[in-house]
Order: sequence, then structure tokens, then C-alpha cells
Amino acid sequence: TIPPIAEHPRLTVIGTGYLGATHAVSMAVLGYEVLGVDVDAAKIALLASGRVPFYEPGLPEKLREALDTGRLRFTTDFTEAAEWGDVHFICVGTPQAHDSNAADLTYVDRAFATLSSAITRRALIVGKSTVPIGTAARLTELVRASSPVGERVELAWNPEFLREGYAVEDTLHPDRLVFGVQSEWAEAQLRAAFRPILDAGTPLVIADLATAELVKVAANSFLATKISYINAMAEVCEATGADVNILASALAYDSRIGSRFLKPGLGFGGGCLPKDIRAFIHRAEELGVGQAVTFLREVDGINQRRRTRTVDVIREMVGGSLEGVPVAALGAAFKPNSDDIRDAPALDVARMLSAEGAIVTIYDPEAMPNARRAYPELSFAPSLPEAVRGAEVVALLTEWAEFREARPDDLGRLVAHRRIVDGRHALNADEYRARGWEYRALGRPVES
Ligand code: NAD
Repeated sequence: TIPPIAEHPRLTVIGTGYLGATHAVSMAVLGYEVLGVDVDAAKIALLASGRVPFYEPGLPEKLREALDTGRLRFTTDFTEAAEWGDVHFICVGTPQAHDSNAADLTYVDRAFATLSSAITRRALIVGKSTVPIGTAARLTELVRASSPVGERVELAWNPEFLREGYAVEDTLHPDRLVFGVQSEWAEAQLRAAFRPILDAGTPLVIADLATAELVKVAANSFLATKISYINAMAEVCEATGADVNILASALAYDSRIGSRFLKPGLGFGGGCLPKDIRAFIHRAEELGVGQAVTFLREVDGINQRRRTRTVDVIREMVGGSLEGVPVAALGAAFKPNSDDIRDAPALDVARMLSAEGAIVTIYDPEAMPNARRAYPELSFAPSLPEAVRGAEVVALLTEWAEFREARPDDLGRLVAHRRIVDGRHALNADEYRARGWEYRALGRPVES
């Protein structure tokens, strides 16, 4: 077998957002020398000083631990990274384009071009960002054309499956690793770069570039489908008086189905699932196989309907008009244990309510700075009690522990009316009803 450049290759991580910062820190904790690179100088300065620019449980401690070893450094200098690194991980964003469902590949293209034009030695560039199928093949050409030593720089793809909120744990102990490679040499570099994780017995799948790209979007499509499946059942439950929670628990006992991602509610959001399935539909159409994934349009549609349906239920509860109605919106992040508000269902609901004239007050334990910045026109309260004070309806939109653990009587003393919509099936309905609350959850009978 072909030996790697080094037993312990020097790693660079280009793009130090949620994915890249976690990857850089985790690899340094595992014993590698790592250089984190970003175009955002403020972000690099924060990370270098031991502060994580976003909320991710456990990451700040690991960042400081890694910095203390001296193995982790940060820079905005691509030339330094190009001269120093053996294996470069590209972790820049691939958001949805402004004018279509396609992925915006500007950042990926720029990162590859800047890096490869500065590389003067044998190196492997590894894409980790989620990209449309065929991107790696196109970038291989781009790297060959833009690098002064094009034939000595190879490209591989290593899709990332980490979950925000569990990012460090998922990086150190992934369910599997996928290496999309074009040569044994590239495989040897990646094996060296992930040695401790592989030695721990992590399953490894070796694939070609296109398959590696597809694994990521296929996995996200499956997860999105599972969520929308149970939410479609919730729609049927609402029309029939059936209870989707009982249905989900009965389905979950079937080990072929399983309980995970079978939770009904307000649906998925965030910087990954929504844009990934849309980009997949777009790319499949370009490839002439759009029909194979038309079901993903339904998955997206069901997911969007959960948001409007939540607004409908709130409107029904207050007698048909939201004009001037104070509503407490609990949650802004797309899920708990994160401050990520990208495509957050909670904020969508808050915006729809206020568009209908409701006086919406939002509270989230971690995501308020991001939410305020993105939606300065919305109103925010500094605490849970402040948010619910005087509310005609409370809407639980992100299932933070603080909301799950709140006592119905404590909240009840503050609101104008004891009405709650549990958008995440996170509360004990009986407990709320016993305390005089009108409790509603999508897909559950109005009174049970
Ligand atoms: P992010 O927006 O948090 O981070 C992207 C970073 O890239 C930013 O810090 C930005 O400044 C930087 N950047 C942009 N252009 C650059 C350039 N030319 N050179 C260097 N840095 C540059 O995004 P993220 O959530 O970390 O996602 C990154 C990629 O990883 C996306 O493709 C996403 O789909 C994928 N992914 C994300 C997660 C997740 O949970 N966040 C999980 C798996 C995969």
C-alpha cells in the first residue's frame, strides 16, 4: 500500500463555521497539528482567543483544551495554509442560492481556487461541505487548471454528518466515515488523517467522488422524509380525531421503522435539511432524473404546511383574528441546544403571526442575538416570564429544556389566558389541562 505523506499529516481547515471550527478543534484534540483558516477575520480572532463565535455545547472547553496543547492555530492567510498543510479540509458554506433552489457554490469555488493557486507542494484537498453531485469532478478540473503544481494536488470528498448540539461528540465518534477518493494515495492520506477514529472501530466506506457526494444528500433526504412522513400522518390525524403521538409510539416499536426522526411537530429547519433537499431536487432535474426525487417536493411542502397550520391553530384559539393579540413565541433556534436560526420554523411562525397583526414577543435561551440581528423588526423579551406576561396564547416553537421544565402554574400566573400550542409535542398535555390550560398540539385531538 502507498504510504501517506506523513503518519501524522498536518491538517488545515478552510472555513471555520459550525462544521469547520468543530472539525479543527476535534482533530487537534485527537493529536493532529491543525491550522484553521477563514476569510472572516473577526471569527478567526475570536477562535484564536479561545472563544467560539456560536453556541455549541462542549465546544468552548475543547477549543481551550486544543489551544493549550499548542497544536491548534488560526489564520486568515491562505498562503501560510497552502505552504504548511498536507491535507486541507474545505468546510465553507453552501447555502441556498437567492434566486433558485440550487446550492450557491460561490464560497466553495472561491476556497478551492484560492487554496489551489497557492499550493506549491504535494497535497490533498478534501471537500467536507455538502455539495450537489458532480461538484467534486468539476473542482478537480478547476484545481488542475489553477494550481501551479496541478498534477500533484489531488481532490477527495469526505461528507460530514455531524448534528449541531452534538457536534464534538459526532465528530469524535461518528456512525461512519465516507471517503470519496480517486486514488489509493488519496485514501492513504485520509486514513492517516482519521487514524484514531478508524482505530476506534468506526466503519469506513470507500467510494468514488459522486457516491460520496450523494451519500450526504441521500441521508438528509431520508431524514427529512421520515419527519415529513409522521407530519403527514399528523394532518390525517387532525381530520379524523386520531392522535399522532400514540400513532408514532406504536409505529416506533417496529424495529424496521424505529423511533428516531419520527417525532411529529413543527417540522425541520436549519442550515442543512431544507436547502439540501431543495438543491438535490434541482440537481436531479439538471441530470435528467428529476422524477426520481419529486417526492422530495412533497416532503418540503408537508414541512412548510406545519408552519402555516400552527398559525391557523393559534388563530382559531383566539376566535378567528390575530389582530392586536399578544402571543408569546417560545424559541427562535431551529432546534434546541443551538443558536442557529437558519430557516428556523419558530421564526417563520413568529413572522407570520406578526404579519397578521399579532403582538409577538419572542424568547430563546441562546438564539436571541442571531434572531435580533436577522429580524430587527420583531420583539424580544429577556426571559421566559417576560415573554409570557400578558399573553393571550403561548406558542412553544423550539423544545428547549427550559420550556419543557416550566411549571404550568408558574406560567399560568403570568399569562392573560391559559392557552398553549405545543408545536413540538414537548409538554405533558394532561398536566397543562389539569391546570386549566387549553392545550393544542398538531395532530392530536382538541380535548383528550
Ligand atoms: P457556516 O456558515 O457556519 O460556516 C462557513 C464558514 O466558511 C464561515 O465562517 C465563512 O466565513 C467561511 N468562508 C466562506 N467563504 C470562505 C472562503 N472562501 N475561504 C475560507 N472561509 C470561507 O456553515 P456550516 O454550518 O459550518 O456549513 C458548512 C458546510 O458544511 C455546508 O456545506 C453545510 O451544508 C455542511 N454541513 C453543515 C453541518 C452543520 O450541522 N452545520 C453538518 C454537516 C454538513
